Amino acid sequence: MSFTLHGIAVTSGIAIGHAHLISHTSMEVAHYVLPRKFLAEEIARFDAALLATRNEFSILRNNRPTNAAAEFDAFLELHQMILDDPLLSVAPRDMIAAEQCNAEWALKVHAETLQAQFDEFEDAYLRERQTDVKQVAERLLKQLLGHPGHVLPPARHDVELILVAHDLSPADLIQFKPHQYAAFITDLGGATSHTSIVARSLNTPCVVGLRNARELIREDDMLILDGEQGVLIVNPDKSILAEYRLRQSEWELERKKLKRLRTARANTLDGKLIELHANIEKPEDISEVKENGATGVGLFRSEFLFLNRDDLPEEDEQFEAYREVAVAMEGEPVVIRTFDLGADKQLKGAERVANNPALGLRAIRLCLAEPYLFRTQLRALLRASHYGNIKILIPMLSGVSELNQTLHFIEATKQSLDEEGEPYNSDVKIGGMVEIPAAALALNVFAKRLDFLSIGTNDLIQYMLAIDRTDEDVAHLYDPLHPAVLHLMAQIIGTSNKLGVPISVCGEMAGELPYTRLLLGFGLRQFSMISSQVPSVKQRVLTTSLPEVAALTQKILRTDEPMKIRELLDKLNTI
Ligand code: PEP
Ligand code: MG
Repeated sequence: MSFTLHGIAVTSGIAIGHAHLISHTSMEVAHYVLPRKFLAEEIARFDAALLATRNEFSILRNNRPTNAAAEFDAFLELHQMILDDPLLSVAPRDMIAAEQCNAEWALKVHAETLQAQFDEFEDAYLRERQTDVKQVAERLLKQLLGHPGHVLPPARHDVELILVAHDLSPADLIQFKPHQYAAFITDLGGATSHTSIVARSLNTPCVVGLRNARELIREDDMLILDGEQGVLIVNPDKSILAEYRLRQSEWELERKKLKRLRTARANTLDGKLIELHANIEKPEDISEVKENGATGVGLFRSEFLFLNRDDLPEEDEQFEAYREVAVAMEGEPVVIRTFDLGADKQLKGAERVANNPALGLRAIRLCLAEPYLFRTQLRALLRASHYGNIKILIPMLSGVSELNQTLHFIEATKQSLDEEGEPYNSDVKIGGMVEIPAAALALNVFAKRLDFLSIGTNDLIQYMLAIDRTDEDVAHLYDPLHPAVLHLMAQIIGTSNKLGVPISVCGEMAGELPYTRLLLGFGLRQFSMISSQVPSVKQRVLTTSLPEVAALTQKILRTDEPMKIRELLDKLNTI
């Protein structure tokens, strides 16, 4: 049966391929009592799930990548051992029989008991293994719930696969990077969630917020994903398929043409040079930065070095990563943001249940609360600054005392490097992200103490409009064209320009074509975006006359009618 679903567009492009379903689950399960006559069946269901999970491990072992690290085998062995622990493989069966409960409940109770046992260990390594217990139990639970997941299929070169999930974390998505999925779709999520941002960085079409796609789509269903429109067509008929194949090749041709602009300078028609920088998550993203002709890294989200691992990156590992990027960029600016962990980017094993994660202990707040982690990163950053044009960016600043403490940390780190005779750039520039309305409204205070500023529109809009950027239920209210947002953006850019403090925008708005001229009209001269967007934004810059744009932008700022704003924006984009 063919049907169409509408979600939130994240990455443009058209993907055509077969569905591969995965699921994520937490150990939250219902408890119910079963009539005696169903107990044997329930135990058989548990046994079947156990067997299927063991099979999953064999598939993983047989399909281990040839270049997999040695830890891969150790990890598999450990997880198999945990699965075979009598507390997970035998005790739940006994409990189903004795207490007439459902298999999921019996598993949850015993997984928690086993986790608690690991928690008692003195040895930190063993204590941390409770995370592995949780992962194994979740794998088993997924089998029970009928959503086996996260066993990536063996690479198939004959068909394109589209990953279908209820939800994906940014950490999940980065793991899928080498697997070359043609597209990603999820039931949950908003366009500026970090999951969506990573999907964009993978340059892979993605639609989120599809609500019940995971339930409606069957494994191997034929899918067409229109990333531009946020539309998903399931089991299309032949004529629709042919039409989309044509559109897909046209789209790819267009992208190839745009890439020819790689070495062109981004000058406006009236001769003003606009800096187009790229956002990255890992050092390996640099090849794309260069391929797309970005002239700097405007945002290196360093927290991605911390995800998907059981340990923390030590100073030398971080130093190597930062140095690699600085050297590869050959003197062009590389803005590295200190880790913005917390909220939807959690360290493995440290997942906290905060009441309001986006308003909780994240970014600079977490850095200041974990001085050891922060100092380690600052040392690595400063040491790497000796090898290129590194600038340090502080996320989520809200107040002066936070800023002072941060600057104090940086000074203290410089001093200790001086004492050790370690080289670093003593004039390294320190910047702050303007992504909390308080910082935007008290901009002078930050501009006075910092060398540069960068507007994080994803969070700024989230906090201004009180909209959780990860929540698809309120995604429709996320509006960069809200008059309050436009006024504040114009004010931040205007004030920074007046004070002579360099300002850029590194949120998603910087890479979205409808806003390029608007931001230029506000006075923005530096943009940082996902690499793949650089060519199309450059093309827009090349056809823009700043004096023409300035007049129309002022008109937009004098309007507070949403319809009128959109009308004027269309006009701005067609002059
Ligand atoms: C932003 O908030 O706009 C930003 C660039 O930071 P992040 O998306 O990583 O929160
Ligand atoms: Mg942010």
